[in-house]
Parts: sequence; structure tokens; C-alpha cells
Amino acid sequence: MYEYEHAHQGTVASAWNSKKFTEVRNAFREGWKHSACNTCWHQESVDGAKSQRLSYTAKQHDLGNAITYDADTLRTISWSFGNTCNFACRTCSLTYSTGWLNETKRMAEQGDQQAQKRLTEHSKKQFDDVQWEQIEPMLNDVVYLDMIGGETLINPKLPGILDLMIERGYAKNINLMLTTNGSTGPTDTWVKRLREFKSLRLNFSIDAVTEDTFKYVRTGDWQQVSQNIDHWKTQEWVGEIRCNPSFSMLNIWDCDRILAWLDKKFGFLNVGYNWIEFPKHYNAVNLPEQAKQDIQEQSTYWHSKKILSQLWSSKSYDTYWKEFVQRTAWLDQSRDESVEKLMPGLATIIHKYSKGTQ
Ligand code: SF4
Repeated sequence: MYEYEHAHQGTVASAWNSKKFTEVRNAFREGWKHSACNTCWHQESVDGAKSQRLSYTAKQHDLGNAITYDADTLRTISWSFGNTCNFACRTCSLTYSTGWLNETKRMAEQGDQQAQKRLTEHSKKQFDDVQWEQIEPMLNDVVYLDMIGGETLINPKLPGILDLMIERGYAKNINLMLTTNGSTGPTDTWVKRLREFKSLRLNFSIDAVTEDTFKYVRTGDWQQVSQNIDHWKTQEWVGEIRCNPSFSMLNIWDCDRILAWLDKKFGFLNVGYNWIEFPKHYNAVNLPEQAKQDIQEQSTYWHSKKILSQLWSSKSYDTYWKEFVQRTAWLDQSRDESVEKLMPGLATIIHKYSKGTQ
């Protein structure tokens, strides 16, 4: 709901009962648009664009769950399970990925206060037993559990937690969604475990579709990931297999190629998308207006249309564009990578629109 830095810091129950969350639920009941949901309202203001809110609602509808704002118990939970991750995607941070540890330390040494804060919270994020103790009593009422990481499938605590849900009888009533970065293929044990849930949706986050761009944006091995997708697809009977690319300043210029590949691999009805809103210097609305225009005019793939129209959901702020250019240069140096070599399309945009910024 909120940018992480503004998230509630107490228990799950105290978040649910907090003044702010109660106000948000009441806003839906009373039919007005709470500002905490601005990300979705913005997305929905663009023709044909589907917000996360609408995607969740559609999913509940597909599962036969009542769409109601009346319930006073938690029916769906999205659980950021821990920050153990084997990738260090450029748009991510230590909050969600241990892959960011060394660079966060370096940023903190250079005086970055957000980095200093993240370092303090780091060990707690790896897995919080207290969170499980708070969530378990709610599972009897939960029909939809969305688990995100870190990378879920490599977190050493996840198998044990899912096994507890199976042993204690929750799994048979829970529609489970697991988001994965694709670095792990299926094993018999995983498949057996996942089949115990009422239904499964395995959601691949794929933000680039070539070896070079994948390395640059996600730091992973594209060949391995694409093989793992194929391998999971042979297990399609375990559940639904989908993907959600996240579009940002980094990859929006490559939207046609990304969507064409994903549509072919997953079927276009199984391809959703996320729009990176935070940090704001990765939000593609903050590309220079002329760059947005160029990207839209050069696009020829039908599926990109509704996504690119989101470029115009807000005006561009030059400070965030400059921050993006500086952050990109910092990471290139830190990772010994070259945007010119690995992402020539992005390099062209940066060089054309950032004179005097670097
Ligand atoms: S795979 Fe997910 S959690 Fe890991 S670094 Fe990338 S965005 Fe962050």
C-alpha cells in the first residue's frame, strides 16, 4: 500500500486496526478514493491500464471469492517473506534483497541515510519468526496468500512454513501465489508440496529477455532462467504459470521486445505487468517528456500500447531523471558494467537527454 519507508512498523494486528488502515477500508465502503491508494488510482486513470487493485479483484472473482468491503477479518495476505535473494536488481534494495548488502554498506559509508536505515533493519528482514506467529492465527480465514521475497524459492525457511500450513490444515483452503525470479527450477519435493494448496499461481518476475539486458537489470543468468521457465511449464498441472514484468526507466524503451517474448512464452492472457512507482527515480513517468514521446512513437507491438500510455499518467520531474542518470552511473562503476555495452537502447536515451547531468 505504501512506499516501504512509510509502512506501518508495528504488529500485523496493529496494522490492521491502525487508524490509517481503518480509514482506507472505510473509504472503500463509503465509495471515496483514499490517497494511500494513489498508485492504483493513477494507473486506472489511463485508458486500458490495469492497476494492482483491479488485478487482485479480478483474481478473487476468478477464484469465486466474494468481492466485498464489509469483511472485518483478513481474507487475503500479501507476505513479504524475507529478503534472502540471489539477485541484486537495479530497482531493488536491501529491504527486499540480500544481494544489495555490499552496495548498501558502500552507500551508507558515503552518507546515504536510507542505506544506513536499511542496514539497521537488514537482519530482521531475512526472516521474522514473529511475523509467522502473528500471521498463523489469521490463516483460518485467509483464502488468498501472496508470498513475495526476496526470492521465495531459495529462502531456507519457506519449505518449513508451507509444510506447517499443510500439516495444520490451512493449505487446502488457501489459494497460494508465489512470486519467483526464475532462478530455481522445479523439484519433486517442491511440486509435491505446492500441490497440497487449494490452488497455485506461480508468478515469474521477468524484466528483461536477453542475456545482456537481463544481466544488467537483474544480475541473473538469462539462459538458466529461461530454461527454468520451460521446466516449470512442463509442470503446468501444478497450477497457473504467469509472469509479471516490472516496467521502469531501465526497460520501458524495450517494452515491445519484452512483451513479445513473454506473450509467446506464457500466452498473452498470462502476462500482467507492474509499474515501478518507487523509488521515484526509477518511475518511467519521470523520463524527459520528449524521450517518452520517442519511445511511444517507436513502439509497434500491440500489447505495449496500454502500458506505454501510462507514461503520461503524471508529468515528468527533472530531479528524478537526473537522480536516475547519476544512480545508473554509480551502479555501472560499482558493478563494473557498461550501459553502452549491455543496454545500448538505454544508453542512447541517457546520452541524448542528459547533457550536463552526468
Ligand atoms: S529478484 Fe526480486 S527481491 Fe531479488 S533483487 Fe530482484 S527484485 Fe529484488
